This record gives sequence, structure tokens and C-alpha cells, in this order.
Amino acid sequence: MRKTRYAAAMAAAAALTLSACGGGGGNEGGGGGETGGAGEGGGETVKIGIKYDQPGLGFDEGGSYSGFDVDVAKYVAGELGYAEDQIEFVEAPSANRENLLSNNQVDMIFATYSITDERKETVDFAGPYFIAGQDLLVPVDSDIAGPEDLEGKNLCSVTGSTSAQKIKDQYPGVNLVEQPGYAECVSVMGGGQIDAVTTDDIILAGLAAQETNAGQFKVVGNPFSEERYGVGLPKGSDMCEDINAAITKMIEEGAWEEAIEANTEGADYSYNEELNPPEPEDCA
Ligand code: GLU
Repeated sequence: MRKTRYAAAMAAAAALTLSACGGGGGNEGGGGGETGGAGEGGGETVKIGIKYDQPGLGFDEGGSYSGFDVDVAKYVAGELGYAEDQIEFVEAPSANRENLLSNNQVDMIFATYSITDERKETVDFAGPYFIAGQDLLVPVDSDIAGPEDLEGKNLCSVTGSTSAQKIKDQYPGVNLVEQPGYAECVSVMGGGQIDAVTTDDIILAGLAAQETNAGQFKVVGNPFSEERYGVGLPKGSDMCEDINAAITKMIEEGAWEEAIEANTEGADYSYNEELNPPEPEDCA
């Protein structure tokens, strides 16, 4: 981050402009906005929801945050005029994302958050900035090859995720166990009570590559959905266009590629090059 006085002033001005035009966006009703310091530079922060327990995507390393979602969030926030020290990361578990946005507890969410019509009823999305696919994580010696093999078996997924919903809708014969996070699912599978964990392939690959799990599990590699990761925004936000422009710039500059490579290094994962990088959708 360049920190010349001029850059800081420009960033502050840009951030200010955003909150000024974005009246309907982040802080409608006067809630929670830190709009102090107008014209003085600094003061404003942007609250960004991320996962804290998904290595390679959104991960809390004791107060510093890493992962592809975090890198995209920082890039986009930078384009919107926020320096890194103006970002306040907030944990956004799968089941809480819509509420965090609706209650204006966060301004944006970058948390492996699939764009769906159902979610669009309560929140807005920019993006997508990545496309993953739902898959299974199983013990290395398992012969489970897809969701069809799970009839009567114990499968773990996360409350409030599209992953759990898809199993309920399409594989009712599976015994679905829900946890608050995927890391918990993997721990339970390590204990032997669960036959498989399901969510997006990139999330599963990151968990499988964690030191504590190394050599124990494998991603089946047979994705059965398309998960289009969007930037969650409060309903009625006017930030979608600017965020999409930032995502497009990140892709064109090569920073997207750098981020995805760096964050999947060491994991047994390659992203689908036919689907990625995606083009952001038109804003509503
Ligand atoms: N992408 C899916 C979703 O948004 C699964 C991953 C997650 O729970 O974050 O529900």
C-alpha cells in the first residue's frame, strides 16, 4: 500500500463518496456508519464478512486473515478507496450471512457465498468472482464415488449452505448431519462417525491439505453443481457496478490468477478453467 498523503486523501474522498451515494446501501437508517472524519482523511472503515475456518479461502491465523476470498476482498476494497487498515473483517458463518447483511453488521461478504435466486430475495450480489462445484470429501480408503453412493450413510454439511440444501432436495435417503462449519464436519469424520463431508470442492481441498488432516482424506473429484461465488451486499446496495469493475480489473491485471494460485498451492486442487475466471453478471 502506498501511503502518500495524497493517496490517503484520495482514498478517503473515494470512500466518502461511496458512503454518500450509497445511502441506501450500507448504513441506511443511520445505523452503524462510521462517517466521522469527513474531509480529514481516515476514519471510515468497511466491514467485510469472511469465513474464519476455511484454509485457502477465509482463514483466521490469529488475527491476520488469509485466503482467496480475503485477497479478492482486499483488492475490491482497495479499488473502492479503502486502505487495508480500513478493513474490519467479521466472521460470517454460512447460516448467518443473510442476517449480517440485512442488519447492516457487514457492508459486504466474501465467504464462498453462492449466488442463488432464493438468497437474492433478501440480499444483493456482485460477481461472480469464482465458480466452484459441490463435491465430497471421504476417508482415503473409502470407495464412495458420488452422492448416489450415500444412501443410508452419514453425510456432514453445514447449516445454511447450498450444499446441505442440495442433499435435502435431491438425496433424501442420505442421513444428513449438520454442523456450523466444515472444519467441524471434518473433525467428526476423523472420529469415524461420518462417511463423507459435502460442500464446494475448493473448500474440501483446503481442509484436506491442512497439516492435521494430511493423508487422511481425499476429495472425490466428481463435482455435481456449479457454485458461483458472489459478493454479498445489503438489499438495495448501489455498490454492485463498482465491485464488478474491480473484479474485472483484478482478473485483467493478473492479480486474480496470482491469488487463486497462491491460495491453492499445496492443496490437491485445480480450478475449472472452462468456468474460471468468470465474467461478473449484470447488476440488477
Ligand atoms: N457455496 C456454498 C454456499 O454458499 C457452500 C459453501 C458455504 O457454505 O459457504 O452455501
